[in-house]
Amino acid sequence: MSTYLAASGRYEKMIYRRCGRSGIQLPALSLGLWHNFGGVDSYENCRAMLRRAFDLGITHFDLANNYGPPPGSAEETFGRALHADLATYRDELIISTKAGYQMWPGPYGEWGSRKYLLASLDQSLKRMGLPYVDIFYSHRPDPQTPLEETMSALDQAVRSGKALYAGISNYDPEQSARALRILRQLGTPCLIHQDSLFVRAPEQGLLDLLGVEGVGAIVFSPLAQGLLTDRYAAGVQNNSRAARGVFLKAGDVEARASQVAALKQIANARGQSLAQMALAWVLRQPAVASALIGASRVEQIEENYKALAKLSFSADELSHIDRIVLASETARS
Ligand code: NDP
Repeated sequence: MSTYLAASGRYEKMIYRRCGRSGIQLPALSLGLWHNFGGVDSYENCRAMLRRAFDLGITHFDLANNYGPPPGSAEETFGRALHADLATYRDELIISTKAGYQMWPGPYGEWGSRKYLLASLDQSLKRMGLPYVDIFYSHRPDPQTPLEETMSALDQAVRSGKALYAGISNYDPEQSARALRILRQLGTPCLIHQDSLFVRAPEQGLLDLLGVEGVGAIVFSPLAQGLLTDRYAAGVQNNSRAARGVFLKAGDVEARASQVAALKQIANARGQSLAQMALAWVLRQPAVASALIGASRVEQIEENYKALAKLSFSADELSHIDRIVLASETARS
């Protein structure tokens, strides 16, 4: 039996933003379980982060079939913690999962077929011990499968009651426009689009499209996997993502060091940490419903939450940030 009782003031300070033209509001900060919630990680630490997040009003937890390692284990961890601590709060939570990347061997274990998506959703529900998720995403577009088939699988997931809403992730503006049209025709409008803003591509057309279509945007990796924080101020520590070197490399830390130092100065002048300013920066876009963070410890979630105290920017700050970020992008291209 859990002894956990959620904080009674959890809804007092969190900001909730409407997700497109829908009935759903999302917390300005959501928590993703891509890293640090796998079978290889400390369950008690995962559990503590989930509890603390919920106590702070973070009601949205984002998963995918392949999160771990090993793949699938983040859903198992989440299911275990949910049933231990959060089961009585299920109706206060938005839980999402996705399918698109490789999950099992053979031709039906990845991409965007109806066969894969619906089988994967069943597996995800089993791992989490849930009858339904709130959002089911196509994790990436599949160039080989007709978009109609992928979207009709999302529609089917919603009609079967195994998902309440459909979402798409990593679809470019043109693919998104087609996907949104098909979903609307099927009668299951797309709730949400998940993408990254640190690479500036989504600002080039995608956010406008989502605004017009009434689809909410949720921004993943708003801290650039930890680069836009003080995580690497003293170099690459053993327990960090860059030390594992799979998705973020020590070379990335080095390449971004001067840019990060310049951004930190602006953040500090605003009275914020770099992480807090980076979160405020993605949230400045009205089409963005939520910034989807990751964390490896409770203190990171607490620091990030304090970003909500200052979300506005002066025009000078924004152009200064652009100069730093865009100068470095020009240097790379
Ligand atoms: P972030 O950019 O928020 O990076 C999170 C990492 O930054 C943490 O794991 C931690 O690194 C570090 N960090 C966070 N806060 C602090 C802090 N205050 N001080 C110092 N370091 C900090 O996001 P993620 O890349 O983790 O992505 C977030 C979520 O987005 C994922 O869990 C997933 O749900 C979703 N996502 C979706 C994708 C898609 O294709 N749809 C792709 C990528 C992500 P460390 O672990 O080293 O301590």
